[in-house]
Amino acid sequence: MTPGRMGAFPRPGVFVPVSAASGRRLSPDMMPIHFILASGSPRRRELLALLNYPFEIVVSGADEDAHLDAEPAAYVAHTARAKAIAVAGRLSSDPTTRRLVIGADTTVALDGAILGKPGTPDEARAMLARLRGRDHYVHTAVCLVDVAAGRELNAVHSATVTMRNYTPAEVEAYIATGDPFDKAGAYAIQHADFRPVSGLRGCYPGVVGLPLCDLISMLRELDVPDRFDPAALVDAHAGHRHTT
Ligand SMILES: [Zn+2]
Repeated sequence: MTPGRMGAFPRPGVFVPVSAASGRRLSPDMMPIHFILASGSPRRRELLALLNYPFEIVVSGADEDAHLDAEPAAYVAHTARAKAIAVAGRLSSDPTTRRLVIGADTTVALDGAILGKPGTPDEARAMLARLRGRDHYVHTAVCLVDVAAGRELNAVHSATVTMRNYTPAEVEAYIATGDPFDKAGAYAIQHADFRPVSGLRGCYPGVVGLPLCDLISMLRELDVPDRFDPAALVDAHAGHRHTT
């Protein structure tokens, strides 16, 4: 596959390792960095791993059904922040490590209404029928908390996704895989057999569950050094160039 020109990609920076042997009190930007991903999603774990920081997963237990009546982008922003703040609040103090908590939440919105995770095959069938052949939004919010500094940054990435005209038989085969049931909108853009998406304007990793391009910008705003391999970031976009 030949990825498109990734004009929106940030340039890689230089990571400078820090010796912990001096015993001096380290300023925050000299401390070893440790990430905490406040999400149990295996897709987010795989995407965050591409940035090459050490991280662990702490699931927040924040209520994802609160504020479901909110406007979709506001809903994901609220939920991502609730996850990150809940996990950051549970951490004991550690003056030797700079800890960054990442909360994220993704939702699918069609005609202004949120499509959540389907509870039954009938719900999955109905969502996929509504989405078929049309454009919808996928909103993914990221909340980044720099624990020791008491700083937080928030972003919402909104991508426009066009669904192809898949057949009812394809929908049944896809539902039979069980894949729709933990996915907002009842589909995964990256599903190798179903391949439900014919067009994308936005960040492909963002639609999968973590907009890496936005996250990299947020990390730079906090002066966190880059460690990612640009080629891996291109691959993560699966050939989709950014058009927004
Ligand atoms: Zn991107």
